[in-house]
Amino acid sequence: MSFLNALFPAKCVICSNLFVFKDQNLFCDECLSMINKEYVEYCSGCGSKIKNCQSCFKKRVFYRIKIFKNNDRYITELIYQFKIKGYKNLSTVIAKKIQDDIKDFVRKENIDLITYIPLDKTTLKKRGFNHLEEILKKVFPSYLIWEVVEKIKKTELQMDLSRDQRLKNLKGVFRLKDIDIKGKKVLIFDDIMTTGSTMKEVCSVIKKGEPDRVYGYIIAR
Ligand SMILES: [Zn+2]
Ligand SMILES: [Zn+2]
Repeated sequence: MSFLNALFPAKCVICSNLFVFKDQNLFCDECLSMINKEYVEYCSGCGSKIKNCQSCFKKRVFYRIKIFKNNDRYITELIYQFKIKGYKNLSTVIAKKIQDDIKDFVRKENIDLITYIPLDKTTLKKRGFNHLEEILKKVFPSYLIWEVVEKIKKTELQMDLSRDQRLKNLKGVFRLKDIDIKGKKVLIFDDIMTTGSTMKEVCSVIKKGEPDRVYGYIIAR
């Protein structure tokens, strides 16, 4: 911690308390300490809020989905500052939080490759990085991380749309890349799940490559 950091403390974007910063100057330690693994009730086949949902009883989407924690203002703000505001060094903070849990999952399920929800070219250029890939790179060796699916159309923000509009909004948006995933165990990584329609769509696109199993890992839902 430098002398200047102590002279000019940062103001936490969540609680407004002043704090002496070390690695990042947006969140105080108390607010960061609120972000932990916790029990989340959800359907392990699709991630919906209903445990053992009816639709997965008929046709399961994912082999298994894992969710790190419930969504709250702490994790929402952390991801917002990282992804939308572009504070790239926050990837380290997020990676530290989830690394034990996601590594454990990957080991137990014998995952062959890890992928993430892609960005369209325009958004990627504007942000300069895919936030999900940045987190994964902090946790796993690069040979495990592959962008299996590409986003060929820009979409409106899903959260502004109704359920029907969301599904329509995703038609023909993703395309499987020329990467051999046949017989592999593939994990899709995403940050925050709301309705889960993006994860479901990417999962169905990946299944065209005939993988053995498709898994999902979500930071918060
Ligand atoms: Zn705070
Ligand atoms: Zn389900």
